[in-house]
Amino acid sequence: MLSGKVAVITGAGRGIGRAIALQFAGYGAKVVINYRNSIVQVEELLNLIKDTGGEAIAVQADISIEEEAKKLLCEAVKQFGRVDILVNNAGITKDNLLMRMSEADFDSVIDINLKGTFLCMKHAATIMLKQRSGKIINISSVVGIMGNIGQTNYAATKAGVIGMTKTVARELALRGITVNAVAPGFIESDMTNQLPDKVKEASLEHIPLKRYGIPEEVANAVSFLASDAANYITGQVLQVDGGLAM
Ligand code: NAP
Repeated sequence: MLSGKVAVITGAGRGIGRAIALQFAGYGAKVVINYRNSIVQVEELLNLIKDTGGEAIAVQADISIEEEAKKLLCEAVKQFGRVDILVNNAGITKDNLLMRMSEADFDSVIDINLKGTFLCMKHAATIMLKQRSGKIINISSVVGIMGNIGQTNYAATKAGVIGMTKTVARELALRGITVNAVAPGFIESDMTNQLPDKVKEASLEHIPLKRYGIPEEVANAVSFLASDAANYITGQVLQVDGGLAM
């Protein structure tokens, strides 16, 4: 499905990014695993991919810093010669009610989720424009569509990612580059594990399929959008949320 394609995935050492990296490698892509801190998990993931006959490298970079985002994309070209797919997956939460949210917590979520996505798209586009082909998939969230109590900063970034996706999709369409977003609902990962049990139970009530999703289910949607099967799809937001935000 992705045979020979070069894919850069941000924040791929754990959680949803890890599932995307594993699935891409299984489909034959050469995978560039970006991480910021999770070196132990990344080494384990590299071994797993190599043991199953896949090809992958890891690049440490904080994607909220332009020089590092640029280094990540340049390293992919240095190692594999091109970049066919970029998945902007890296993201954080720093939840609090509006009146208690500090400026620092607002800024750091914007810097990583929104600015980091912008910086990686910008430096990937430089490469993809020359190739006249490429696929960018940005990980948004249903929270960017619905809003969520305690997530003013996070919801702003995820709504912003949708706005950027549609804008960049329009800008790059004539050069054969598609840009889409995937908006997961509640997915089992470190990010949702840290939620209080009360919040987890309450959220299940609103999910028609009555369960959390798993990272592989998000990866399924990302793999589809990264494949040639999605060549005529751009500027779209694909929700993977058990019906939460319909
Ligand atoms: P997670 O398990 O907390 O993983 C977050 C990942 O982001 C880690 O790999 C982390 O890398 C990376 N990261 C954070 N800051 C970074 C930076 N500055 N530079 C590079 N990488 C950075 O979260 P997840 O649940 O897998 O979430 C992945 C994406 O899906 C996020 O964008 C999140 O907003 C979105 N999402 C998740 C859910 C959910 O229910 N889980 C729902 C909707 C959307 P290190 O460990 O190396 O720091």
